Amino acid sequence: MKCIVCHSDDIQTREVYEELKVGQDIVYVPIHVLVCQSCGERYYSRQTMHFLEEVEQELQKKREGKLELQELGKVLLYR
Ligand SMILES: [Zn+2]
Repeated sequence: MKCIVCHSDDIQTREVYEELKVGQDIVYVPIHVLVCQSCGERYYSRQTMHFLEEVEQELQKKREGKLELQELGKVLLYR
């Protein structure tokens, strides 16, 4: 498999944090994806896409206050 962006063939499975937005919040979801080691392009399997869709639906419950998540830090705006 070659990277469609930079044509490198150095593509390896890595654990990355996918960022999902829930309202103003960002939720990090650890997933395993193929990542181009040259340019960082990520390649999602159909299975992973499906998993992320499920997590997104689950996160909608958070907006209704039904899901407890661990808070890692805050996103702050300087102006
Ligand atoms: Zn690449």
